[in-house]
Amino acid sequence: MRIGKMWSVGLAALLALGPVALAQSGYHRGPTSGAQGVRRGHMQRGRGELKVYFVDVEGGQSTLFVMPGGESLLVDTGSADTKSTAAPRDATRIAAVCKLAGVTKIDNLVVTHYHSDHVGGLPQLVGMVPVGRFIDHGENREGEEVQGGAPTVAGWNAYQKVLTESHAEHLVVKPGDVLPVRAMRVKVVSGDGEVIARPLAAGGEQNAACAASALKDAEGTENDRSLGLAITFGKLRILDLGDLTWAKERALMCPVDKLGKVDVYIVSHHGLVNSGSPALVDAIAPRVAIMDNGPRKGGAPATFDTIEGSSRLKDLWQLHTAEGSDAKHNVAQSRIANLAGPDAGNTLELTGWLDGSLSVTNGRTGETVEYPAP
Ligand SMILES: [Zn+2]
Repeated sequence: MRIGKMWSVGLAALLALGPVALAQSGYHRGPTSGAQGVRRGHMQRGRGELKVYFVDVEGGQSTLFVMPGGESLLVDTGSADTKSTAAPRDATRIAAVCKLAGVTKIDNLVVTHYHSDHVGGLPQLVGMVPVGRFIDHGENREGEEVQGGAPTVAGWNAYQKVLTESHAEHLVVKPGDVLPVRAMRVKVVSGDGEVIARPLAAGGEQNAACAASALKDAEGTENDRSLGLAITFGKLRILDLGDLTWAKERALMCPVDKLGKVDVYIVSHHGLVNSGSPALVDAIAPRVAIMDNGPRKGGAPATFDTIEGSSRLKDLWQLHTAEGSDAKHNVAQSRIANLAGPDAGNTLELTGWLDGSLSVTNGRTGETVEYPAP
């Protein structure tokens, strides 16, 4: 048995105990200890590794990137917990994962848009983990007159209060900007309803998937305005478009694919049908897709069909069994972090290397699946 496997089992045991146990365990793995030091098979892959933690915020988003040297980037904060303000669910889970990852300060916190499942947990989180810099697309454009707009306005107002009271930096970015992150390149490809004007270096081809990809109207909500990030770590490419909508994907992907192929697709909008068009998914052709769905949010059958039909896919992973979809559309249980039943808040953990190889660990089982560089 490899030591790395033992570490995984140990992590699984801790994760199985839930976030509170994690927080109390004192379990700490800094950037120079733990798996990094013992994965002998990966020593040839270059210096350092990227860790990406998909926190279970029950159908919202919260994704923590920890780079070599410990630099951290958190994308979104899940929802507010108004029932348990002493131990709010999502903020507590994110803080526990920060502790697990050795993150004592979130260097950069990206708010993709102002829906409550993305920005809602922010005020409670900043009470637990300090933040160096907040990054967003600028003004909230969704008023209370829009259906579902009231919680958006409330989330925006709570975030503005944090910005006012915080000593952290605040950065508004637009498509084409590069985030001030050192150990990986994070390019903004969408934001505030706009997309990049010119293709990235990896893109630029005519997109054959456009013709058969249906047309849909924009929502007129904050989803259309999501910040989208194209992340490059060595040869590894990761795409996170937040909840960017189907209509806005078309501006990015048709007639010319401005993004190019990626290794990892963080499934847009939790796998709901108003994102994840064939025009996007067929062109980016991910090797691994990770869906931050909830038990009854996202994970639509049509979304499964599109992702699983893409040409290079090795595996789709889910944070939850999608209880509104059938067994045929859910992936194998070994690729799901949280099965139907009492919720354990299990995390999916991705490790990426500079040569383009990666692995994914299921926090529920401890199983790690390796994906060699293409
Ligand atoms: Zn969302």
